[in-house]
Amino acid sequence: MPIYDVAIIGAGPAGLLCARNAARRGLSVALVDSHDRPGVKLSVAGGGRGNFTNRTLTERHYVTGDPALVRAVLRAFPCEKVLDLLRELRLPFEERDFGQIFGLRPASFMADRLAMQCDDARVDFYLGGAAHSFTPPSVSPAFGRADNERTFSFLAGRERVTARALVIAAGSPACPALGSSDAMAKLAAAWGHDVVPFRPALAPLVMPDGWPLAGLEGISLNVRLELRRNGESFRPDPEGIRPLLFTHRGVSGPAALVASCLWKQGDELLIDFLPELPVPELLDEKDHGKLLARNLLARHMPARLADALCPEDLARRKCAELGKKDRLRLAQAVHRFSCRPAGTEGLKRAEVAAGGVTFSSLSRKLESRLVPDLYFCGEILDVAGLLGGYNIHWALASGALVASALAKRAAEKTDVASDFRGRRFVPKD
Ligand SMILES: Cc1cc2nc3c(=O)[nH]c(=O)nc-3n(C[C@H](O)[C@H](O)[C@H](O)COP(=O)(O)OP(=O)(O)OC[C@H]3O[C@@H](n4cnc5c(N)ncnc54)[C@H](O)[C@@H]3O)c2cc1C
Repeated sequence: MPIYDVAIIGAGPAGLLCARNAARRGLSVALVDSHDRPGVKLSVAGGGRGNFTNRTLTERHYVTGDPALVRAVLRAFPCEKVLDLLRELRLPFEERDFGQIFGLRPASFMADRLAMQCDDARVDFYLGGAAHSFTPPSVSPAFGRADNERTFSFLAGRERVTARALVIAAGSPACPALGSSDAMAKLAAAWGHDVVPFRPALAPLVMPDGWPLAGLEGISLNVRLELRRNGESFRPDPEGIRPLLFTHRGVSGPAALVASCLWKQGDELLIDFLPELPVPELLDEKDHGKLLARNLLARHMPARLADALCPEDLARRKCAELGKKDRLRLAQAVHRFSCRPAGTEGLKRAEVAAGGVTFSSLSRKLESRLVPDLYFCGEILDVAGLLGGYNIHWALASGALVASALAKRAAEKTDVASDFRGRRFVPKD
């Protein structure tokens, strides 16, 4: 039975890139996934096209307990690195609004090409069986290796895999229909790592029964959102204005999905339905004086929404007749519409999960401080990106970082082992 230099659990973007890069640097690699093909979640990304990265990448585009570490990882692996990867994979791409980079082939193309490159680099795949029954990392007595060398051992389906280093790139439990689970995060916790409970991110928001904008499902328009917590408001989205979609249960669309990443139970949501057209200016326009307030709104938003937003006693009054207080109420209803979501649609409908293995028990190279030679990368870490290609970017960036760390560590071990052997066998006289 071979002892691999490294076993990687999870053949998503993080595990695939880590495996490819580590194998290209001469390490023997086992790549394990419970699915019978690599990159299942990657294949559905971006509506099937894959939004792989973003021109604007900052730590502000991530929800994480350690923004400084995320910033350092992004600096070492900027957008251009993903673009180089796409060129190398011969995957054409285009830039869309907000700097989003989408592939021009099915997203599964990236998974397939990365898997082919892993094959070329002699990565051994163990597919179709979950990794389980881990024996805690132990000191290996095997002949010819340094006495303090550990091995990790587990079953991949029914096959035993043993390796000197272990990388957990098992993703998060978001979207369980794609086979996601939190089993590997539980293992990390059992081995002493600090794990923040997973919570849905990039998930539709659910409104309480009887909220005033019920029945508008299907309507979509550009809005700016704010969250208010303990009397303080903040904008969840660095990009500002994005589409909001009314659903049967509440709101979705890019604006709501981004807000869900930072929303906490009890937070108030403030919606600006005309972020680029201030109501006071509209009311002041010369030829608007004779318009009914409701009709003025309906010129700039779907009529059903205008009906729902315009205070009843103002709807049938002419703009010119509105007093100072009325004008303020109308502006408030349009620009600061307040509601309190009851929750999100949960991990089942979330694209990613916030929370996960925190950086407090990891080095800056994403190696465990508690279990040497154990690494983490990708979405299992306490990092969730906002909408725009940030999550796949993070998976690739952290996977590449771990591969470099593994190669460096292997080189150091070889040096130590040869130094050690050299000293041991130099005859004394
Ligand atoms: C519908 C949808 C659309 C998305 N679109 C985008 C997008 O356009 N852009 C973007 O940036 N992000 C997008 N995301 C998020 C993105 O896909 C993930 O953040 C990314 O795939 C995470 O990569 P990863 O390698 O960390 O984990 P994953 O891609 O989740 O891969 C982890 C792998 O580990 C395997 N695994 C888990 N446990 C075990 C075990 N015990 N044994 C063996 N294998 C195991 C799983 O089977 C899985 O294949 C989307 C997500 C969803 C659900």
